[in-house]
Amino acid sequence: MTLPLVFDAPRRGTPPRHLADLTTDERREAVEALGEKGFRADQLSRHYFGGHADGQMTDLGPTARDRLAPLLPTLLTSVRQVTCDEGTTRKDLWRAHDGTLIESVLMRYPDRSTVCVSSQAGCGMACPFCATGQAGLTRNLSTGEIVDQVVRADRSLRNGEVPGGPGRVSNVVFMGMGEPMANYSRVVAAVRRLTDPVPAGLGISQRNVVVSTVGLVPAIDKLTAEGLNVTLALSLHAPDDELRDTLVPVNTRWPVAEVLKAAFGYTRTTGRRLSIEYALIRGVNDQPYRADLLAKRLRGKLVHVNLIPLNPTPGSAWDASPKPVEREFVRRLREAGIATTVRDTRGREIAGACGQLAAQE
Ligand code: SAH
Repeated sequence: MTLPLVFDAPRRGTPPRHLADLTTDERREAVEALGEKGFRADQLSRHYFGGHADGQMTDLGPTARDRLAPLLPTLLTSVRQVTCDEGTTRKDLWRAHDGTLIESVLMRYPDRSTVCVSSQAGCGMACPFCATGQAGLTRNLSTGEIVDQVVRADRSLRNGEVPGGPGRVSNVVFMGMGEPMANYSRVVAAVRRLTDPVPAGLGISQRNVVVSTVGLVPAIDKLTAEGLNVTLALSLHAPDDELRDTLVPVNTRWPVAEVLKAAFGYTRTTGRRLSIEYALIRGVNDQPYRADLLAKRLRGKLVHVNLIPLNPTPGSAWDASPKPVEREFVRRLREAGIATTVRDTRGREIAGACGQLAAQE
């Protein structure tokens, strides 16, 4: 007998409802709706966020455990793990309930452990140098699917699966697949879940969360009013509209001047330093005059430039800038008084940049 093909066909749909999708009030209601006392919501939350080993919820008792199981459905199934840097960098490829593939990366440093999470499966922003941008958008991730990437990494660290002894996730960056500001409400809810103290959430400091965006101005304005203290990263990649229109197509809608205005509005309100992301692409955006123009646009602001050597995507003609060109770019920015660093390129050998592992699958 041949199995009907429909078993393999991914259904693109809404992920099952999970505890991490819900506020504390909603969790209480959900627990009561399943026939348990409201205080069980906190117990269940402690188990999920507080890092007890999977499946061991002995203080709940077998009946409550069974009744409440629907609130902790499996959201992400591990498809593949790839590590480098002696195991301290790990890329996870996950499969969601509908077959959708999602990536996250865990990077352990001596003083912190950072998870790079995806906010969407695929991306609709179509930046030509980005692997995720090439395939288009599949769907938004749910709050639970975003949070679970961090919770799973946190469990690995606690269980001592990552070299360096037991640890915790200290930092989260929204720099995996997707455009966080295009999945606004779920991303903001995920940030709250990640930063609310246990049992409401995972208890990570808001200051240790970075939300990176191509620059959707209305969403940046909304985030400014949100009262969060996360760091905003703006993927600028060019200081002039002519070039940015091609590298970050959404620039045709919200040009450089407008996006910088919105981003600086965020820093004014929050007091958080703006991070400017700038992938240096050989012969495309790395000219000395563009460094000068970038410096001019940023002068006097609470800002930090993060230069990223381009990670060439398969089949692309583009490459990273030569080191002397990179050094000159850095020199000019610093000379103009702009704090500038070059991002380390961890995870390159495991296709750690933006959509490359999912693209291989
Ligand atoms: N959509 C969001 C967040 C995801 S990408 C954003 O664009 O900000 C995280 C960062 O990686 C962005 O700055 C993005 O421009 C950059 N990036 C994407 N592809 C890259 C590549 N091939 N090499 C270097 N940086 C890349």
